Parts: sequence; structure tokens; C-alpha cells
Amino acid sequence: MLRNLILILVSFCFIHIAQAWGFWAHQRINRLAIFSLPPAMFTFYKANIEYITEHAVDPDKRRYVVVGEAPKHFIDLDHFCAYPCDSFPRKWQEAKSIYSEDTLNAYGIVPWVIEWTMNKLTGAFVDKDKALILKYSADLGHYIADSHVPLHTTENYNGQLTDQQGIHGFWESRLPELFHEEYSFWVGGASYIKNRNEFIWTNILHAHNQLEGVLSLEKQLDKTYPNDQKYAFEARGESLIKTYSRGYSLAYHILLDGMVENQMQLSVKHIADLWFTCWVGAGLPNLSDLDFNNIREPAGQENEGKVLKIKSRPHAETGFDVLLDKP
Ligand SMILES: [Zn+2]
Repeated sequence: MLRNLILILVSFCFIHIAQAWGFWAHQRINRLAIFSLPPAMFTFYKANIEYITEHAVDPDKRRYVVVGEAPKHFIDLDHFCAYPCDSFPRKWQEAKSIYSEDTLNAYGIVPWVIEWTMNKLTGAFVDKDKALILKYSADLGHYIADSHVPLHTTENYNGQLTDQQGIHGFWESRLPELFHEEYSFWVGGASYIKNRNEFIWTNILHAHNQLEGVLSLEKQLDKTYPNDQKYAFEARGESLIKTYSRGYSLAYHILLDGMVENQMQLSVKHIADLWFTCWVGAGLPNLSDLDFNNIREPAGQENEGKVLKIKSRPHAETGFDVLLDKP
């Protein structure tokens, strides 16, 4: 009885902390992306850096209250195809006609959500609507970051199908928490993306292609590492949590050979690229004279506000659960 109670308390602490780190990480990634923008955008974004940072986590908060939000954060590609998924339709209309909207919502729609959010952001730039520019910039950053996490591209999102439960938080929380000080986040200036659908899919498939390594390297390590040294208890504030030991984490991080750092760098760069692409698509509006308008939703958004019949499974984690320093 007491043992069960302790387990429940430990699990609760772990879940609670994991969410906080996910929030923190999304905020860092959005914040860092601002520093890759060209001067004509940088001044506006820098002036609103606290908003872009703080609201980077709004999509995760909505997951629990807005119908249709949950599938926007992932896509279980391995349900449909094997890498490189050449025959899987990249366009929403085609995918919908083949698999149905309900099925796509059950297995995740993040690639198309990135495109739809880009449409909204471009519209906000055209209208020079400051509130919506900020809202959709923050949202877009979140979905792009999620799409760079290999475990956001699989049905086996937490290793539950391969007896590796907990690997989601291990890869995206524990490793960056321990090693982020070694990471570099200078990713260069934003680029204009001509074919955004292709760009988004290239990035998701790049993440998906690393899934095999994420799982097999941990499996390999688990077989060779002393079992009694795999986990450790660590103090977090006033709580004691069970987590992967530092030695086991270091060994896994070395085996991954820079994968976590690289995916985080790509997230930062690609957020800047797509913010910039929306701004160019809107005709390079002058951002120096924006005022707040009334918050409203632009017309023509697909899949927004509908009640979806989702035969979904729980989506355990947020995006990158990491601790990063301020730029
Ligand atoms: Zn998310």
C-alpha cells in the first residue's frame, strides 16, 4: 500500500516536471528563432520577444480544452508507410481522399497544421494585424518544433511497443537537461522557402529517419549497461524523482552522436525560415507601425473549430522537454 502510494507520488512528480520542461523548451526555441530574422523583422519580433516566448506553449495548453488540438502535434508515419514514405500523399486533400479525415486525425496531422498556420500568419501580415501576427508566429514555432522530434512521428511514441517506456522524456527532456550547455545555437540567418510543403515534409521525414537510432541505440545500451545503475533518484525542488542515471544518460547521449542538439538547431532555424517566408509571401509589410487590432480569426481555415471523431490514443509528451539558457 505504502509502496503504491510512493509510486503514485513519484509518477505525479515526474509528469508534472516533464510538462514544465516541455513548456520551457518550446519557449527557448521560439525565443532563439528571433535572432535569425532579418533586420526588417527582427526589430518587431525583438520588441515582442516576451510574447513570442511566453505563448510558445499555448498549443500544448489548448490540447486539453480545444477539440481537434491534440492531433496537431504529431504524425504517426509508421502507421501508414515505411521511410522514406515516397508513396504517402504530402498534400492534405489527397491524403484526406485516400485515408479520410477521421483516420488522419487519429494518427496526427502536424505537417498540414504547419501549412495552415503559415496561411494564417501570412494573412495576419497582409492585414498588418499585430495581435494575430504574434499569436500565429508563436503557434507556428510550436508546431515546427514538435515536428522535429523523432518520437512525434511514430505510434511507438513512448517506447511502449518495444518495452522502452519513458524514452520520450529521456530523449527530449533528460538528455538536453544534462547536456544543453555543450550545445551551440548559432544557426545563421533565415532563408526564404519556395516550396513549403516539400520543406515541411523533408524535415519531418528527416526526424522520422532518426527514429530507428533513437530506439535501437537505447535498446543496445540497455542490454550492456549494469541494470542496477540505469536509474537514479534525484531531488527536484522538494520532490524526489526516479529518472535515468547520469551515467546511463551520458552513454546514450554519446551513442546518439549529436542528434538532440542537431534537431534543436534545425527547429530554431526552420521556425525563422517559415516566419520569414510568411512575411515575404505577404509582400514584405512594414512592421514598424503596427497597432493592436481586434483579435479575430481570418477566413478560410481548414479543419478549425470542427468537432472531430478521434479514435485517438493519449499523447504523452509535449515537444522538446529541455532546459536551455537564455540567448
Ligand atoms: Zn506540442
